[in-house]
Amino acid sequence: MEIPRLAHYVAGEWVESTADTWSSDVNPSTGTDVLALVPEGGPALVGRAVAAGQTAVRGWAATPGPQRAQILYQAASLLAEQRAALGLLVAREVGKPLGEAVQEVDRGVTILRYFAGEAVRPLGQVIPAQQAGSLQFSMRQPLGLVAVISPWNFPVAIPLWKIAPALAFGNTVVWKPAETASFTAFSLAQVLANAGLPAGVLNLILGKGSLTGESLVQHAGLRAITFTGSDATGMRIAELAARHNIKYQLEMGGKNAALVLGDAHLDQAARLIAGGAMRFAGQKCTATSRAIVVQEVLDKFLNQLEGAVRALPLGSATTEATAVGPLIAPDAVERVHSYVTSGAASGAVVLGGKAPDGAQFGQGFFFEPTVIVGAAADAPVAQEEVFGPVLVVQPVRTLEEALELANGTKYGLSVSLFTRDINAALAYIPAIECGMVRINGDTTGVDPHAPFGGMRGSSSHSREQGPAAIEFFTEIKTVQINPAS
Ligand code: NAP
Repeated sequence: MEIPRLAHYVAGEWVESTADTWSSDVNPSTGTDVLALVPEGGPALVGRAVAAGQTAVRGWAATPGPQRAQILYQAASLLAEQRAALGLLVAREVGKPLGEAVQEVDRGVTILRYFAGEAVRPLGQVIPAQQAGSLQFSMRQPLGLVAVISPWNFPVAIPLWKIAPALAFGNTVVWKPAETASFTAFSLAQVLANAGLPAGVLNLILGKGSLTGESLVQHAGLRAITFTGSDATGMRIAELAARHNIKYQLEMGGKNAALVLGDAHLDQAARLIAGGAMRFAGQKCTATSRAIVVQEVLDKFLNQLEGAVRALPLGSATTEATAVGPLIAPDAVERVHSYVTSGAASGAVVLGGKAPDGAQFGQGFFFEPTVIVGAAADAPVAQEEVFGPVLVVQPVRTLEEALELANGTKYGLSVSLFTRDINAALAYIPAIECGMVRINGDTTGVDPHAPFGGMRGSSSHSREQGPAAIEFFTEIKTVQINPAS
Protein backbone atom coordinates (compact mmCIF):
# COMPACT_ATOMS: atom_id res chain seq x y z
CA MET A 1 0.00 0.00 0.00
CA GLU A 2 1.28 3.47 -0.87
CA ILE A 3 2.34 5.55 2.15
CA PRO A 4 0.22 8.73 2.41
CA ARG A 5 1.99 12.08 1.93
CA LEU A 6 0.66 14.72 4.29
CA ALA A 7 -0.13 18.29 3.20
CA HIS A 8 0.01 21.72 4.84
CA TYR A 9 -3.12 23.87 5.09
CA VAL A 10 -2.65 27.54 4.21
CA ALA A 11 -5.21 30.22 3.31
CA GLY A 12 -7.99 27.64 3.03
CA GLU A 13 -6.04 25.38 0.61
CA TRP A 14 -4.31 22.05 1.13
CA VAL A 15 -0.74 22.64 -0.02
CA GLU A 16 0.95 19.57 -1.50
CA SER A 17 4.68 19.77 -0.97
CA THR A 18 7.24 19.38 -3.72
CA ALA A 19 9.97 18.86 -1.09
CA ASP A 20 12.74 16.39 -1.97
CA THR A 21 13.08 15.25 1.60
CA TRP A 22 10.23 13.77 3.59
CA SER A 23 10.37 12.50 7.16
CA SER A 24 8.92 9.11 8.01
CA ASP A 25 6.18 9.01 10.65
CA VAL A 26 6.86 5.68 12.41
CA ASN A 27 4.56 3.65 14.67
CA PRO A 28 6.52 3.36 17.96
CA SER A 29 4.76 0.10 18.90
CA THR A 30 6.30 -1.68 15.91
CA GLY A 31 9.35 0.51 15.29
CA THR A 32 9.12 -0.23 11.56
CA ASP A 33 5.64 0.60 10.31
CA VAL A 34 5.71 3.96 8.39
CA LEU A 35 2.28 5.62 8.71
CA ALA A 36 2.88 8.71 6.58
CA LEU A 37 5.51 10.93 5.00
CA VAL A 38 5.80 14.42 6.46
CA PRO A 39 6.93 17.43 4.37
CA GLU A 40 9.06 20.28 5.72
CA GLY A 41 7.16 23.58 5.62
CA GLY A 42 10.22 25.84 5.84
CA PRO A 43 10.44 29.64 6.07
CA ALA A 44 8.73 30.48 2.75
CA LEU A 45 5.57 28.56 3.61
CA VAL A 46 5.63 29.97 7.16
CA GLY A 47 5.65 33.43 5.55
CA ARG A 48 2.60 32.53 3.43
CA ALA A 49 0.75 31.14 6.46
CA VAL A 50 1.48 34.25 8.56
CA ALA A 51 0.28 36.48 5.71
CA ALA A 52 -2.91 34.39 5.41
CA GLY A 53 -3.56 34.64 9.13
CA GLN A 54 -2.98 38.39 9.11
CA THR A 55 -5.32 38.88 6.15
CA ALA A 56 -8.09 36.82 7.75
CA VAL A 57 -7.95 38.36 11.19
CA ARG A 58 -10.04 41.48 10.59
CA GLY A 59 -12.98 39.52 9.17
CA TRP A 60 -12.80 36.79 11.82
CA ALA A 61 -12.55 39.26 14.71
CA ALA A 62 -15.62 41.04 13.31
CA THR A 63 -17.59 37.78 12.91
CA PRO A 64 -20.24 37.75 15.64
CA GLY A 65 -19.43 35.44 18.56
CA PRO A 66 -22.57 33.33 18.00
CA GLN A 67 -21.41 32.57 14.43
CA ARG A 68 -17.92 31.61 15.61
CA ALA A 69 -19.61 29.41 18.21
CA GLN A 70 -21.64 27.56 15.55
CA ILE A 71 -18.46 26.65 13.66
CA LEU A 72 -16.85 25.31 16.84
CA TYR A 73 -20.01 23.29 17.67
CA GLN A 74 -19.91 21.88 14.14
CA ALA A 75 -16.21 20.96 14.60
CA ALA A 76 -17.15 19.19 17.85
CA SER A 77 -19.82 17.14 16.04
CA LEU A 78 -17.44 16.19 13.22
CA LEU A 79 -14.75 15.23 15.73
CA ALA A 80 -17.21 13.09 17.70
CA GLU A 81 -18.03 11.16 14.50
CA GLN A 82 -14.33 10.34 14.16
CA ARG A 83 -13.64 9.25 17.75
CA ALA A 84 -12.81 5.63 16.90
CA ALA A 85 -10.76 6.37 13.77
CA LEU A 86 -8.85 9.27 15.27
CA GLY A 87 -8.30 7.40 18.55
CA LEU A 88 -6.75 4.54 16.59
CA LEU A 89 -4.55 6.95 14.65
CA VAL A 90 -3.31 8.53 17.90
CA ALA A 91 -2.51 5.05 19.26
CA ARG A 92 -0.61 4.13 16.10
CA GLU A 93 1.19 7.44 15.69
CA VAL A 94 2.33 8.37 19.22
CA GLY A 95 1.89 5.04 21.06
CA LYS A 96 -0.87 6.20 23.41
CA PRO A 97 -2.81 3.13 24.57
CA LEU A 98 -6.06 2.90 22.61
CA GLY A 99 -8.44 3.45 25.54
CA GLU A 100 -6.65 6.64 26.58
CA ALA A 101 -6.34 7.75 22.96
CA VAL A 102 -10.11 7.54 22.43
CA GLN A 103 -10.67 9.36 25.75
CA GLU A 104 -8.40 12.11 24.47
CA VAL A 105 -10.57 12.55 21.37
CA ASP A 106 -13.63 12.75 23.65
CA ARG A 107 -11.85 15.40 25.66
CA GLY A 108 -11.21 17.30 22.42
CA VAL A 109 -14.96 17.27 21.69
CA THR A 110 -15.68 18.64 25.18
CA ILE A 111 -13.06 21.37 24.76
CA LEU A 112 -14.55 22.50 21.44
CA ARG A 113 -18.04 22.63 22.97
CA TYR A 114 -16.80 24.51 26.05
CA PHE A 115 -15.11 27.21 23.95
CA ALA A 116 -18.07 27.43 21.57
CA GLY A 117 -20.01 28.44 24.70
CA GLU A 118 -17.30 30.94 25.68
CA ALA A 119 -17.71 32.70 22.33
CA VAL A 120 -21.12 34.03 23.40
CA ARG A 121 -20.31 35.05 26.98
CA PRO A 122 -19.81 38.66 28.20
CA LEU A 123 -16.45 40.20 27.30
CA GLY A 124 -16.22 43.18 29.62
CA GLN A 125 -17.42 45.18 32.59
CA VAL A 126 -19.15 48.51 33.12
CA ILE A 127 -16.93 50.76 35.30
CA PRO A 128 -18.46 53.79 37.06
CA ALA A 129 -17.02 56.98 35.49
CA GLN A 130 -15.85 60.04 37.44
CA GLN A 131 -17.57 62.37 34.97
CA ALA A 132 -21.33 62.67 35.27
CA GLY A 133 -23.26 61.31 32.29
CA SER A 134 -20.31 59.27 30.95
CA LEU A 135 -20.38 55.61 30.11
CA GLN A 136 -17.16 53.76 30.90
CA PHE A 137 -16.49 50.10 30.26
CA SER A 138 -13.72 47.62 29.59
CA MET A 139 -13.95 45.23 26.68
CA ARG A 140 -11.85 42.25 25.80
CA GLN A 141 -10.80 41.97 22.18
CA PRO A 142 -8.75 39.45 20.18
CA LEU A 143 -4.96 39.75 20.02
CA GLY A 144 -4.69 39.03 16.28
CA LEU A 145 -2.57 36.24 14.79
CA VAL A 146 -1.44 33.61 17.31
CA ALA A 147 1.22 30.92 16.76
CA VAL A 148 0.32 27.56 18.30
CA ILE A 149 3.25 25.16 18.93
CA SER A 150 2.13 21.79 20.31
CA PRO A 151 3.89 18.63 21.53
CA TRP A 152 3.32 15.02 20.42
CA ASN A 153 2.07 13.50 23.68
CA PHE A 154 -1.47 14.97 23.65
CA PRO A 155 -1.84 15.47 19.90
CA VAL A 156 -5.59 16.20 20.02
CA ALA A 157 -6.33 17.79 23.41
CA ILE A 158 -3.41 20.23 23.67
CA PRO A 159 -3.77 21.71 20.16
CA LEU A 160 -7.51 22.06 20.77
CA TRP A 161 -7.20 23.72 24.16
CA LYS A 162 -5.06 26.34 22.42
CA ILE A 163 -6.77 26.61 19.01
CA ALA A 164 -10.39 26.54 20.29
CA PRO A 165 -10.07 29.54 22.65
CA ALA A 166 -7.90 31.41 20.14
CA LEU A 167 -10.66 31.06 17.52
CA ALA A 168 -13.58 31.50 19.93
CA PHE A 169 -12.27 34.92 20.99
CA GLY A 170 -11.64 36.05 17.38
CA ASN A 171 -7.95 35.38 16.79
CA THR A 172 -6.46 33.61 13.77
CA VAL A 173 -3.91 30.81 14.07
CA VAL A 174 -0.78 29.38 12.48
CA TRP A 175 -0.26 25.93 14.02
CA LYS A 176 3.02 23.99 13.99
CA PRO A 177 2.46 20.57 15.62
CA ALA A 178 5.24 18.21 16.71
CA GLU A 179 6.58 16.43 13.66
CA THR A 180 5.99 13.04 15.30
CA ALA A 181 2.28 13.85 15.60
CA SER A 182 1.82 15.24 12.07
CA PHE A 183 -0.75 12.70 10.87
CA THR A 184 -3.06 13.41 13.82
CA ALA A 185 -2.57 17.16 13.28
CA PHE A 186 -3.39 16.82 9.58
CA SER A 187 -6.59 14.89 10.43
CA LEU A 188 -7.61 17.40 13.11
CA ALA A 189 -7.04 20.31 10.72
CA GLN A 190 -9.34 18.54 8.22
CA VAL A 191 -12.06 18.40 10.88
CA LEU A 192 -11.69 22.12 11.66
CA ALA A 193 -11.55 23.09 7.98
CA ASN A 194 -14.67 21.01 7.21
CA ALA A 195 -16.54 22.72 10.04
CA GLY A 196 -16.60 25.89 7.93
CA LEU A 197 -13.74 28.12 9.10
CA PRO A 198 -13.14 30.92 6.59
CA ALA A 199 -9.87 30.76 4.60
CA GLY A 200 -6.79 31.82 6.57
CA VAL A 201 -8.39 31.59 10.03
CA LEU A 202 -6.53 28.35 10.77
CA ASN A 203 -3.28 27.48 9.01
CA LEU A 204 -1.30 24.27 9.55
CA ILE A 205 2.41 24.08 8.79
CA LEU A 206 4.13 20.71 9.15
CA GLY A 207 7.86 20.17 9.63
CA LYS A 208 10.64 20.10 12.18
CA GLY A 209 10.72 22.36 15.22
CA SER A 210 14.32 23.36 14.57
CA LEU A 211 13.52 24.68 11.08
CA THR A 212 9.81 25.32 10.47
CA GLY A 213 8.98 25.92 14.16
CA GLU A 214 11.94 28.25 14.60
CA SER A 215 11.05 30.30 11.52
CA LEU A 216 7.47 30.64 12.81
CA VAL A 217 8.38 31.83 16.32
CA GLN A 218 10.94 34.27 14.87
CA HIS A 219 8.34 35.84 12.59
CA ALA A 220 7.63 39.49 13.34
CA GLY A 221 4.02 39.17 12.17
CA LEU A 222 2.78 37.33 15.28
CA ARG A 223 0.83 38.89 18.15
CA ALA A 224 1.24 35.95 20.54
CA ILE A 225 2.79 32.48 20.89
CA THR A 226 1.24 29.66 22.89
CA PHE A 227 3.59 26.72 23.42
CA THR A 228 3.62 23.37 25.19
CA GLY A 229 6.78 21.28 25.19
CA SER A 230 10.22 21.02 26.70
CA ASP A 231 11.93 23.59 28.92
CA ALA A 232 14.69 24.31 26.41
CA THR A 233 12.30 25.18 23.57
CA GLY A 234 10.07 27.14 25.94
CA MET A 235 12.93 29.34 27.13
CA ARG A 236 13.97 30.01 23.53
CA ILE A 237 10.42 31.08 22.69
CA ALA A 238 10.28 33.36 25.75
CA GLU A 239 13.42 35.16 24.55
CA LEU A 240 12.10 35.63 21.03
CA ALA A 241 8.69 36.80 22.24
CA ALA A 242 10.31 39.33 24.58
CA ARG A 243 12.36 40.66 21.67
CA HIS A 244 9.12 41.37 19.73
CA ASN A 245 7.24 42.38 22.89
CA ILE A 246 4.42 39.94 22.19
CA LYS A 247 2.43 37.82 24.61
CA TYR A 248 3.65 34.28 25.22
CA GLN A 249 2.41 31.30 27.15
CA LEU A 250 4.64 28.33 28.02
CA GLU A 251 3.62 24.97 29.49
CA MET A 252 6.73 22.87 30.08
CA GLY A 253 7.98 20.01 32.20
CA GLY A 254 7.15 18.54 35.58
CA LYS A 255 8.69 16.37 38.30
CA ASN A 256 5.42 15.55 39.97
CA ALA A 257 5.33 14.03 43.44
CA ALA A 258 2.75 11.99 45.32
CA LEU A 259 3.09 12.22 49.11
CA VAL A 260 1.87 9.25 51.15
CA LEU A 261 1.24 9.72 54.87
CA GLY A 262 0.87 7.02 57.51
CA ASP A 263 -2.94 7.20 57.61
CA ALA A 264 -3.43 6.99 53.83
CA HIS A 265 -5.54 4.27 52.22
CA LEU A 266 -2.49 2.47 50.83
CA ASP A 267 -4.38 0.44 48.22
CA GLN A 268 -5.83 3.65 46.76
CA ALA A 269 -2.45 5.41 46.91
CA ALA A 270 -0.58 2.50 45.30
CA ARG A 271 -3.14 2.09 42.49
CA LEU A 272 -3.28 5.80 41.60
CA ILE A 273 0.48 6.31 41.90
CA ALA A 274 1.19 3.24 39.73
CA GLY A 275 -1.24 4.50 37.07
CA GLY A 276 0.00 8.08 37.26
CA ALA A 277 3.60 6.93 36.84
CA MET A 278 3.29 4.16 34.26
CA ARG A 279 0.23 4.68 32.03
CA PHE A 280 1.25 5.86 28.52
CA ALA A 281 4.77 4.93 29.67
CA GLY A 282 4.97 8.04 31.88
CA GLN A 283 4.96 10.39 28.87
CA LYS A 284 2.71 13.04 30.40
CA CYS A 285 3.87 16.35 31.82
CA THR A 286 1.70 15.51 34.85
CA ALA A 287 2.97 11.93 35.27
CA THR A 288 3.81 10.94 38.85
CA SER A 289 7.57 10.56 38.93
CA ARG A 290 8.23 10.59 42.69
CA ALA A 291 6.42 8.86 45.55
CA ILE A 292 7.43 10.46 48.85
CA VAL A 293 6.38 7.99 51.53
CA VAL A 294 6.58 8.13 55.32
CA GLN A 295 8.88 5.44 56.63
CA GLU A 296 6.27 3.79 58.88
CA VAL A 297 4.25 2.53 55.87
CA LEU A 298 7.07 2.18 53.33
CA ASP A 299 7.24 -1.63 53.22
CA LYS A 300 3.49 -2.05 53.03
CA PHE A 301 3.26 0.64 50.35
CA LEU A 302 6.02 -0.95 48.24
CA ASN A 303 4.30 -4.27 48.43
CA GLN A 304 1.00 -2.81 47.18
CA LEU A 305 2.78 -0.68 44.59
CA GLU A 306 4.49 -3.70 43.07
CA GLY A 307 1.14 -5.44 42.65
CA ALA A 308 -0.44 -2.32 41.14
CA VAL A 309 2.41 -1.81 38.66
CA ARG A 310 2.39 -5.47 37.61
CA ALA A 311 -1.34 -5.17 36.92
CA LEU A 312 -0.68 -2.62 34.14
CA PRO A 313 -0.09 -4.51 30.88
CA LEU A 314 2.85 -3.44 28.69
CA GLY A 315 2.34 -3.92 24.96
CA SER A 316 1.34 -2.45 21.63
CA ALA A 317 -0.69 0.74 22.00
CA THR A 318 -3.32 -0.59 19.60
CA THR A 319 -4.12 -3.59 21.81
CA GLU A 320 -7.24 -2.84 23.86
CA ALA A 321 -5.84 -4.15 27.18
CA THR A 322 -2.53 -2.22 27.05
CA ALA A 323 -1.98 0.38 29.75
CA VAL A 324 1.71 1.23 29.34
CA GLY A 325 2.67 1.18 25.61
CA PRO A 326 5.96 2.18 23.95
CA LEU A 327 8.15 5.27 24.24
CA ILE A 328 7.99 7.70 21.33
CA ALA A 329 11.41 6.97 19.77
CA PRO A 330 14.56 4.85 20.13
CA ASP A 331 16.53 7.75 21.64
CA ALA A 332 13.87 8.03 24.38
CA VAL A 333 14.60 4.40 25.34
CA GLU A 334 18.30 5.26 25.63
CA ARG A 335 17.55 8.40 27.66
CA VAL A 336 15.31 6.55 30.12
CA HIS A 337 17.86 3.77 30.45
CA SER A 338 20.63 6.21 31.30
CA TYR A 339 18.46 7.87 34.02
CA VAL A 340 17.77 4.45 35.53
CA THR A 341 21.45 3.48 35.44
CA SER A 342 22.53 6.69 37.16
CA GLY A 343 19.68 6.35 39.70
CA ALA A 344 20.88 2.85 40.58
CA ALA A 345 24.12 4.38 41.89
CA SER A 346 22.33 5.71 45.00
CA GLY A 347 19.07 3.71 44.98
CA ALA A 348 17.82 0.18 44.41
CA VAL A 349 15.96 -0.77 41.22
CA VAL A 350 13.22 -2.99 42.63
CA LEU A 351 11.15 -3.40 39.48
CA GLY A 352 11.93 -3.21 35.73
CA GLY A 353 15.00 -1.23 34.76
CA LYS A 354 15.47 -2.34 31.14
CA ALA A 355 13.85 -2.86 27.75
CA PRO A 356 11.54 -5.90 27.94
CA ASP A 357 12.43 -9.30 26.45
CA GLY A 358 9.96 -11.16 24.26
CA ALA A 359 9.09 -11.57 20.61
CA GLN A 360 5.82 -9.67 21.10
CA PHE A 361 7.78 -6.42 21.55
CA GLY A 362 9.45 -6.80 18.12
CA GLN A 363 11.41 -3.67 17.25
CA GLY A 364 9.05 -1.40 19.22
CA PHE A 365 10.46 1.25 21.54
CA PHE A 366 9.48 -0.32 24.87
CA PHE A 367 10.83 0.08 28.40
CA GLU A 368 9.69 -1.87 31.44
CA PRO A 369 7.76 -0.06 34.19
CA THR A 370 10.53 0.73 36.67
CA VAL A 371 10.58 1.52 40.38
CA ILE A 372 13.72 2.84 42.11
CA VAL A 373 13.75 3.08 45.90
CA GLY A 374 15.92 5.55 47.77
CA ALA A 375 17.81 7.40 44.98
CA ALA A 376 19.61 10.47 46.35
CA ALA A 377 17.45 13.62 46.35
CA ASP A 378 19.95 15.38 44.06
CA ALA A 379 20.32 12.47 41.61
CA PRO A 380 19.22 13.39 38.03
CA VAL A 381 16.48 10.72 38.17
CA ALA A 382 15.01 12.48 41.26
CA GLN A 383 15.41 16.02 39.90
CA GLU A 384 14.89 15.97 36.12
CA GLU A 385 11.93 15.03 33.95
CA VAL A 386 12.57 11.45 32.77
CA PHE A 387 9.46 11.22 30.53
CA GLY A 388 9.36 7.45 30.83
CA PRO A 389 7.77 4.74 33.02
CA VAL A 390 10.04 5.38 36.01
CA LEU A 391 8.98 6.08 39.60
CA VAL A 392 11.43 7.07 42.32
CA VAL A 393 10.27 6.23 45.85
CA GLN A 394 11.73 8.53 48.52
CA PRO A 395 11.28 7.64 52.23
CA VAL A 396 10.74 10.48 54.75
CA ARG A 397 9.83 10.76 58.45
CA THR A 398 7.35 13.66 58.56
CA LEU A 399 4.97 15.76 56.47
CA GLU A 400 7.40 18.71 56.76
CA GLU A 401 10.21 16.62 55.31
CA ALA A 402 7.87 15.40 52.56
CA LEU A 403 6.88 18.97 51.63
CA GLU A 404 10.51 20.09 51.51
CA LEU A 405 11.42 17.21 49.20
CA ALA A 406 8.34 17.76 47.03
CA ASN A 407 9.25 21.44 46.58
CA GLY A 408 12.92 20.61 46.05
CA THR A 409 13.07 20.56 42.24
CA LYS A 410 12.87 23.40 39.73
CA TYR A 411 9.35 22.32 38.66
CA GLY A 412 5.89 22.97 40.11
CA LEU A 413 3.24 21.41 37.90
CA SER A 414 1.08 18.80 39.66
CA VAL A 415 1.19 17.13 43.08
CA SER A 416 -0.89 14.78 45.18
CA LEU A 417 -1.19 14.00 48.90
CA PHE A 418 -2.66 10.75 50.20
CA THR A 419 -4.07 11.18 53.70
CA ARG A 420 -7.28 11.21 55.74
CA ASP A 421 -5.92 13.87 58.10
CA ILE A 422 -7.67 17.22 57.48
CA ASN A 423 -4.95 19.14 59.33
CA ALA A 424 -2.21 17.64 57.16
CA ALA A 425 -4.24 18.57 54.07
CA LEU A 426 -4.72 22.14 55.31
CA ALA A 427 -0.98 22.51 55.96
CA TYR A 428 -0.06 21.08 52.53
CA ILE A 429 -2.30 23.16 50.26
CA PRO A 430 -0.64 26.56 50.93
CA ALA A 431 2.89 25.16 51.39
CA ILE A 432 3.17 23.18 48.17
CA GLU A 433 4.50 25.12 45.18
CA CYS A 434 2.51 23.60 42.32
CA GLY A 435 -0.18 24.85 39.97
CA MET A 436 -2.38 21.75 40.34
CA VAL A 437 -2.84 20.25 43.78
CA ARG A 438 -4.76 17.09 44.65
CA ILE A 439 -5.66 15.15 47.74
CA ASN A 440 -6.25 11.41 47.34
CA GLY A 441 -6.06 11.77 43.55
CA ASP A 442 -3.80 11.02 40.59
CA THR A 443 -1.33 13.75 39.53
CA THR A 444 -2.45 13.23 35.91
CA GLY A 445 -5.71 14.27 34.28
CA VAL A 446 -7.33 17.61 34.95
CA ASP A 447 -10.96 18.38 34.13
CA PRO A 448 -11.12 20.02 30.69
CA HIS A 449 -12.94 23.08 32.05
CA ALA A 450 -10.54 23.70 34.99
CA PRO A 451 -7.44 25.94 34.78
CA PHE A 452 -4.33 23.97 33.82
CA GLY A 453 -0.71 25.03 34.39
CA GLY A 454 2.24 25.13 36.73
CA MET A 455 4.35 27.29 38.99
CA ARG A 456 8.09 28.03 38.89
CA GLY A 457 9.96 26.18 36.08
CA SER A 458 6.86 24.41 34.76
CA SER A 459 5.13 27.30 33.08
CA SER A 460 5.15 30.98 32.27
CA HIS A 461 2.62 31.50 35.08
CA SER A 462 -0.48 31.94 32.98
CA ARG A 463 -3.08 29.16 32.85
CA GLU A 464 -4.78 27.30 30.03
CA GLN A 465 -8.27 25.79 29.75
CA GLY A 466 -11.54 26.87 31.27
CA PRO A 467 -12.13 30.46 32.33
CA ALA A 468 -8.35 31.10 32.50
CA ALA A 469 -8.03 30.97 28.69
CA ILE A 470 -9.67 34.35 28.15
CA GLU A 471 -6.78 36.05 30.01
CA PHE A 472 -4.26 34.91 27.42
CA PHE A 473 -6.24 35.03 24.19
CA THR A 474 -7.73 38.52 24.60
CA GLU A 475 -6.55 41.95 25.67
CA ILE A 476 -8.44 44.65 27.51
CA LYS A 477 -9.48 47.99 26.04
CA THR A 478 -10.88 50.64 28.41
CA VAL A 479 -13.52 52.80 26.75
CA GLN A 480 -15.11 56.05 27.96
CA ILE A 481 -17.98 57.72 26.12
CA ASN A 482 -18.77 61.26 27.22
CA PRO A 483 -21.80 63.38 26.32
CA ALA A 484 -21.19 65.73 23.38
CA SER A 485 -21.40 69.32 24.67
P1 NAP B 1 9.70 19.89 22.38
O1 NAP B 1 10.80 19.14 21.75
O2 NAP B 1 10.02 21.17 23.05
O3 NAP B 1 8.65 20.14 21.22
C1 NAP B 1 7.46 20.85 21.45
C2 NAP B 1 7.08 21.56 20.17
O4 NAP B 1 8.03 22.57 19.89
C3 NAP B 1 7.08 20.64 18.95
O5 NAP B 1 6.08 21.05 18.06
C4 NAP B 1 8.45 20.92 18.35
O6 NAP B 1 8.54 20.54 16.99
C5 NAP B 1 8.54 22.41 18.56
N1 NAP B 1 9.88 22.97 18.53
C6 NAP B 1 11.07 22.38 18.81
N2 NAP B 1 12.08 23.28 18.66
C7 NAP B 1 11.52 24.45 18.30
C8 NAP B 1 12.03 25.75 18.01
N3 NAP B 1 13.33 26.04 18.05
N4 NAP B 1 11.16 26.71 17.68
C9 NAP B 1 9.82 26.46 17.62
N5 NAP B 1 9.28 25.25 17.86
C10 NAP B 1 10.12 24.26 18.20
O7 NAP B 1 8.88 18.99 23.41
P2 NAP B 1 8.33 17.50 23.14
O8 NAP B 1 9.44 16.56 23.30
O9 NAP B 1 7.52 17.45 21.89
O10 NAP B 1 7.28 17.34 24.32
C11 NAP B 1 7.62 16.80 25.55
C12 NAP B 1 7.72 17.91 26.57
O11 NAP B 1 6.48 18.61 26.62
C13 NAP B 1 7.95 17.41 27.97
O12 NAP B 1 8.90 18.21 28.61
C14 NAP B 1 6.59 17.58 28.63
O13 NAP B 1 6.62 17.74 30.02
C15 NAP B 1 6.10 18.81 27.97
N6 NAP B 1 4.65 18.91 28.09
C16 NAP B 1 4.16 19.84 28.94
C17 NAP B 1 2.79 19.95 29.13
C18 NAP B 1 2.23 21.01 30.05
O14 NAP B 1 1.07 21.36 29.88
N7 NAP B 1 3.00 21.51 31.00
C19 NAP B 1 1.92 19.11 28.45
C20 NAP B 1 2.46 18.14 27.59
C21 NAP B 1 3.84 18.08 27.41
P3 NAP B 1 9.21 19.10 16.62
O15 NAP B 1 8.61 18.09 17.53
O16 NAP B 1 8.79 18.91 15.22
O17 NAP B 1 10.67 19.25 16.83
